[in-house]
Amino acid sequence: MKKFLWLLIILITITSILCLIKEKKEDKKIVVDNPYKVFTFYKEENLERYKKYKKLNNLDIKDIILRVNMGLDNSFYTHTKEVTFDKLMLVNKYNYVSKDFEVPNLVPVKEFAKEGMYLEKECMEAFVKMAQDALKSNYNIRAISTYRTYNYQENLYQNYVKKDGVKEADTYSARPGFSEHHTGLAIDVDNIKTSYTDFLNTKEFQWMQDNAYKYGFILRYGKDKENITGYMYEPWHYRYVGKDIAKYIYENNITFEEYYYEFIEKN
Ligand SMILES: [Zn+2]
Repeated sequence: MKKFLWLLIILITITSILCLIKEKKEDKKIVVDNPYKVFTFYKEENLERYKKYKKLNNLDIKDIILRVNMGLDNSFYTHTKEVTFDKLMLVNKYNYVSKDFEVPNLVPVKEFAKEGMYLEKECMEAFVKMAQDALKSNYNIRAISTYRTYNYQENLYQNYVKKDGVKEADTYSARPGFSEHHTGLAIDVDNIKTSYTDFLNTKEFQWMQDNAYKYGFILRYGKDKENITGYMYEPWHYRYVGKDIAKYIYENNITFEEYYYEFIEKN
């Protein structure tokens, strides 16, 4: 009887060990079969697109997922989605606002701006504070383009198209509905003296490089980020995202798109 009991214990132990080994192997198999699945922003419905994009692009798995989720495996202005107001909303060449989109708490920018400029209230207050602090150190920051209506962007874009054609215009101007300026959270700046297109070469730009994030602003269309943002380098265009996120984006040298699809977009 005692012998039988011992045999049983040994048998159970061996079976348990075998089961454990099998489970471990299966765990490993899932990871090898689908390395995309380990990321929280992985989307089952995009798996085939990840695989296809991976074949065409030498990027790590995380970037493959993020970029496909952004829609970058499709051309700009295709597979677009309408978005509504949120302080962390994303408006780009895949995400647009409708013709009747409205910004809550749109207020005039009474200082450090050209006439007739409007911004979302929190963004306006952060901007004025930033411009005030800059001025204390003798740097002139002025808002020259802020909130834009759909109609305004439509005229602007059509004029650029007439001048340069659609292909060229698309590299520097947004189509109506697709401009971040519709959100009331984006600002183009200059230093009063020089044209905004030369902002890169001003001491104010250097100041903005080092300080904008402390006030919650990010340089929205960074250098060598065109393939993600869809826009050439724009040293004059800033977006308000709040201090914490601005700091993260600044320190990691990423785009708002990358931040948005990793941390904000809900699956
Ligand atoms: Zn702009």
